[in-house]
Amino acid sequence: MFARRSITAAAALALVAGCTTTMPAAPPPDPAPAQRAFAASCTDFDEWDKPAPPFRLHGDTYYVGTCGIAALLITDARGHTLIDSGTDRGAEVVLANIRALGFDPRDVTTILMSHEHFDHVGGLARVQAATGATIAATAPAAAVLRTGITAEDDPQAQSGHDAFPPVTGPIRLIDPAGAQGRFTPIATPGHTRGALSWRWQSCEAGVCRWIVYADSMNPISDDHYRFSDHPGLVAVFRAGIAALAASPCDILITPHPGGSALRRRLLGEAPLVNPDGCPAYAASVTSRLDARLAEEAARAR
Ligand SMILES: [Zn+2]
Repeated sequence: MFARRSITAAAALALVAGCTTTMPAAPPPDPAPAQRAFAASCTDFDEWDKPAPPFRLHGDTYYVGTCGIAALLITDARGHTLIDSGTDRGAEVVLANIRALGFDPRDVTTILMSHEHFDHVGGLARVQAATGATIAATAPAAAVLRTGITAEDDPQAQSGHDAFPPVTGPIRLIDPAGAQGRFTPIATPGHTRGALSWRWQSCEAGVCRWIVYADSMNPISDDHYRFSDHPGLVAVFRAGIAALAASPCDILITPHPGGSALRRRLLGEAPLVNPDGCPAYAASVTSRLDARLAEEAARAR
């Protein structure tokens, strides 16, 4: 059973009667009140483990993360997909939010992820235990999930990131060049080696939107790492930025919701649906990367 637990009385009657006439599909509830509730409960760049009310973003895509860290649930009769878990503690909020929406965590069959840092995947072991889902990850990300420790070649390797509970359940290695069912990965390494962004389409009332979950793509590091010492990483970083800029994109969401002004957009202070969201985000990443490389060059002089 992948249906929402609560069904309307009319639908229940139809089921009991074995009704074969087509029931008019109930219009989806207006998402605006729940979206505003999130905006009222959270601040921009809020605490990572602070509980947030879940809300429907568009169609079958729901925000189930905390105030400070995103997690998205995309529902499907063949099994739901969850993207990111938040921290180990935050994962409890994510699971509670899935239940609060009327879904059963055990109906989540696939878990996708953005990048292999504890604030986004530290709760994957907990979520996998609660759902029984298979995690799909790139090889560099999977290696980190298995240890719970930031990779040695991570720009933030010496930043003292918290270790997180390692994943012991199934991980399916994925090729970023290939689609995962309805989900298209966009390889966006740079912030970490194994980072992915994701694109999929959700429809409601005949309106389909491309939703893009763009990775953090933040060119930051510990005190020792220099991006300019790793031209190969900078090259794939730039290729990922270009791919993101060129992606179909109606609704942009980022692992740190403040990174794409989610709260303000839910309040209507900026458009939630904005095809320029991805190009603008990509341009901002490019300028931060350029500034970072210029700063490294200046320091080396
Ligand atoms: Zn990170």
